[in-house]
Amino acid sequence: MLLNINKDKFKSDYQEKFIEINGKELSEGADYDKYEALAGLIRDYVAKLWVASNKKCSFSHQKQVYYFSMEFLLGRLLGTTLLNLGIRDMCKEALSELGIDLDKLEELEEDQGLGNGGLGRLAACFLDSMASLNIYGHGCGIRYKYGFFEQKIIDGAQVEAPDDWLKNGNVWEIKKPDEAEIVKFGGYVDMINQGGRLVFYQRDYEPVMAVPYDIPIVGYENGTVNTLRLWSAEPVVDEFDFSSFSRGEYSKAVDYRNSVEAISQVLYPDDTFYEGRKLRLKQQYFFVSAGIQSIIKKFKACGGNIKELDDSIAVHINDTHPALAIPELMRILMDEEGLGWDEAWRITTDVMSFTNHTIMPEAMEKWPVSMFQELLPRIYMIVNEINERFCRQLWNLYTGQWDKIARMAIIADGYVRMAHLAVVGSHSVNGVAKLHTEILKKEVMADFYYLDPKKFNNKTNGITHRRWLMKANPGLASLLRQTIGDSWIRHPIDLERFERYAYDGAVQAELESIKKANKERLAHYIKEHNDITVDPSSMFDSHIKRIHAYKRQTLNCLRIMDLYNRLLDNPHVNIVPRTFIFAGKAAPGYYLAKNIIELINAIADKINNDPRVNDLMKVVFLENYRVSLAEVIIPASDLSEQISTTTKEASGTSNMKFMMNGAITIATLDGANIEIRDEVGDDNIVIFGLTSKEVLNYYRNGGYSAADVIEAAPALKRVLDDLINGKYSKDKDKFRAVYDSLTTYNDEFFVLKDFVPYLEAQARVDEMFEDRIKWNKMAIVNIAHSGIFSSDRTIEEYAVGIWGSDYLYKNL
Ligand SMILES: *Cc1c(COP(=O)(O)O)cnc(C)c1O
Repeated sequence: MLLNINKDKFKSDYQEKFIEINGKELSEGADYDKYEALAGLIRDYVAKLWVASNKKCSFSHQKQVYYFSMEFLLGRLLGTTLLNLGIRDMCKEALSELGIDLDKLEELEEDQGLGNGGLGRLAACFLDSMASLNIYGHGCGIRYKYGFFEQKIIDGAQVEAPDDWLKNGNVWEIKKPDEAEIVKFGGYVDMINQGGRLVFYQRDYEPVMAVPYDIPIVGYENGTVNTLRLWSAEPVVDEFDFSSFSRGEYSKAVDYRNSVEAISQVLYPDDTFYEGRKLRLKQQYFFVSAGIQSIIKKFKACGGNIKELDDSIAVHINDTHPALAIPELMRILMDEEGLGWDEAWRITTDVMSFTNHTIMPEAMEKWPVSMFQELLPRIYMIVNEINERFCRQLWNLYTGQWDKIARMAIIADGYVRMAHLAVVGSHSVNGVAKLHTEILKKEVMADFYYLDPKKFNNKTNGITHRRWLMKANPGLASLLRQTIGDSWIRHPIDLERFERYAYDGAVQAELESIKKANKERLAHYIKEHNDITVDPSSMFDSHIKRIHAYKRQTLNCLRIMDLYNRLLDNPHVNIVPRTFIFAGKAAPGYYLAKNIIELINAIADKINNDPRVNDLMKVVFLENYRVSLAEVIIPASDLSEQISTTTKEASGTSNMKFMMNGAITIATLDGANIEIRDEVGDDNIVIFGLTSKEVLNYYRNGGYSAADVIEAAPALKRVLDDLINGKYSKDKDKFRAVYDSLTTYNDEFFVLKDFVPYLEAQARVDEMFEDRIKWNKMAIVNIAHSGIFSSDRTIEEYAVGIWGSDYLYKNL
């Protein structure tokens, strides 16, 4: 079923909806009223498709995929939902006839920011692609009351404010209280022998009610509407006898309510840093248990035979955070469905698959056994049994090799290791880019790889071209339609046809004018938010992502400081004017990252106010980086900074968004940058820096000396001194953390080692940028080769290679 709505029908529906919601005429309404009425109407349209889509899927024998993720970074939904419904242009025109600017209304929507960065945004792109490819693929996560914090820059430093994204309600969600599940924490396990079978009961537990909120995920012009189910924690109301308040139970009831509500209160703001807190473990079991329970309930209600669960259901675990889905499914299959261990284990491992996202040791999740056991007594028993059986298997294979077995065990040294649980309990383990998967196989998970090499595979990440090209850059989408038609919309690989226009003068001119318009829009945004005037004809050089030592914003800072020095030394040096754009949040407890933000803002302050240079360089830090801001920066960027320490960035996805929008990448050979290079060729990307071999060699064998590197490069010595000589702050110790990380602590991320090669690479960028024909050719080649980085390609690979979902036959 597709929507059948024309302009007149839409106009009258809209006016009616406006009155229904606001109790006044459209002409009297404020913009926000108009937004709410529009979103409400579109939600109603979607609801009809949703019901039809759900009906189809409950009765079809098509495999259902459930993507479990602690984070979904959706951003705004109105614009992309209109686009996918295929009615955005029609609505824009109709609204304009009513004197309303659709783009302006879309900007009033709060971002749904329930994620930290790449991992959460990947989950959101995957939902879009699954729906658009007709896969019955649903999301399962947590409905955090407060999403990723709002970043404010005050006196040049990051200040965090709560992200109260639900303050005006959320039109996209539908609460389903009748589908609530109970999740049990604590207490003890009672074992009872019932007719020769051991039966387990959890007693004296604290019950938590998991209430689902469903969000529709609309596929691109195909009538499919999947569901993102987010769980909210509520107290079980009849848990306390409220008449007993007078007997002093009141404060106990309040404590209970607070402890329950804390579970879905707030998203942990740490990216790549594991947080060993009990509340985090509670969050993980909470949504995983609710999710698995509801899947089984629906499966059985549709008449499914539990012994064939793995024919109909696939559960994907996004990083280790949802790995408790493995023992939770075992628990349900054994304790509630009465299956024996072996059968339950076969089904569970067949159902589960796992994506690893990081190789950084500080990000690897492990839980103290005592905490785990106390909070999840029955789940602990099951994990323990999984571990014992696994170690027995290892013992048979590697008899006597105690070290190896201890290294691979799921429980060891008083901790439960979540990555090991996820690997052992899944039939598939994938990395997110070729290099990352190779490092997993050869280094981080080498023992597991040699045990079962077939389990390991690569699925290079992707991004949805619907949001990141069609929605974010309508000018470019229109140029593509005019030149190569629109087959690329359903088959993004067809973007390759655009390469034919690489040297076409008219297309180059049009591309340049689209980029210019996008840059003017960003310049306007910068003026409004930072009160800085930037020149749209300067090169827009963007470095936007989480602030982290391994992403090396410091390297970018040092070269800007160096450029400033060179301009002061020699005002006639020939450089391309640039606007340096930064955006990104630091984890609130990450002192160094916050110091880097202060440094960027101090550099901006100094340079932007120095009339000797500020017509040649401007530095801008845009606060509160989020999806909707990325959608403005990326289409307006000329240069994409992807300069992580090689081996550290598992894939990266903003690199893909930039190339798809015609930016040229300056990059280290890390993550998916390597595959971008392979696609566009060495002439259409700028590569520099240490190779993965060199980096791994340093980590393994040592031998790196920051002091030696500084000694050999006077310009480097000078910018390092500038960090602590008062040039950028009256307080000479202000950037001590950055300085010490590079010198005293021997530069863990090889910023200094890559400094000179980076400067040389930037000089090459300058040269290329001045040759407009060459630069535009490079942009066209990048756009033309970005199709393979659509998440549609990624999801097809998951569907065929991991989930075994016969999606191609759906709807035929
Ligand atoms: C794409 C995206 C990211 C990931 O960026 P990387 O540069 O790959 O780390 C993070 N945050 C937002 C808002 C994004 O859109």
